Amino acid sequence: MAIYFHEEDLPVGVLADGPVAVDTETMGLITARDRLCLVQISDGKGDEHLVRFANGSAFDAPNLKAVLADPARVKLYHYARFDLAAIAHYLGVWATPVFCTKIASKLTRTYTDRHGLKMIVSELLGEDISKQQQSSDWGADVLTDAQREYAASDVRFLHRLRDVLVTRLEREGRMEMAQACFDFLPARAALDLSGWADKDIFSHE
Ligand code: MN
Repeated sequence: MAIYFHEEDLPVGVLADGPVAVDTETMGLITARDRLCLVQISDGKGDEHLVRFANGSAFDAPNLKAVLADPARVKLYHYARFDLAAIAHYLGVWATPVFCTKIASKLTRTYTDRHGLKMIVSELLGEDISKQQQSSDWGADVLTDAQREYAASDVRFLHRLRDVLVTRLEREGRMEMAQACFDFLPARAALDLSGWADKDIFSHE
C-alpha cells in the first residue's frame, strides 16, 4: 500500500480494471474561480495515485482523462456533484458513470443528518480518517506529507463504502432511486457551472 505522486498526468497502466475512486482538491469551493490542484484516484487495491496540476497548467492529461471518461469504469466519489463540475470545467471530460457515497448515505442512513466522509467511514467501516488538511493550501509549491496522506485517505475507503452502501440500498429498496440520482449528477453539475448553483430548479419557488 503506497501513495504515488505524479505531475500533470497519470502514468499508463497503474490502475487495475474496474471501478475507480476519485476525489479532487481545489483552491476553494467556487469552481470557475478556484483552480483544480489535485486529482486523487485509486483502483481499490491499496494504492492511491495523486495527480498534481501546477498553477497555469494546460490540464493536458490524456491518460487521466481517458480513465475518467471511460464509460466502462464506474467512478466512486463522496459528493460527486462537486468533483464532476471541477473535472468537467478544468479537464473537459464528464467523469461518469457515477456512484456517490454521500447520496447513498442520505438515501439509507435516514436516522442521521451526518453524511460527511469521516462519519460514514467511521460508522460503516470502523476506520478513522483525519479531515485536518481539508482546508489547506492545495496550490502550494510542495504538498506536505500530511496533505498527501489526507488526499489519499479521501479515496482509500470508497470501494469498501460502496459495498456496504449497496447492501443498505438494496435492503431498503432504494437502489433504483439512487441510480437515477447518480445518472442525473452530470446535469446537476452542469447547472452549477452555468449559474444555477444555489437554486433548486425542482422547488416551487
Ligand atoms: Mn478531498
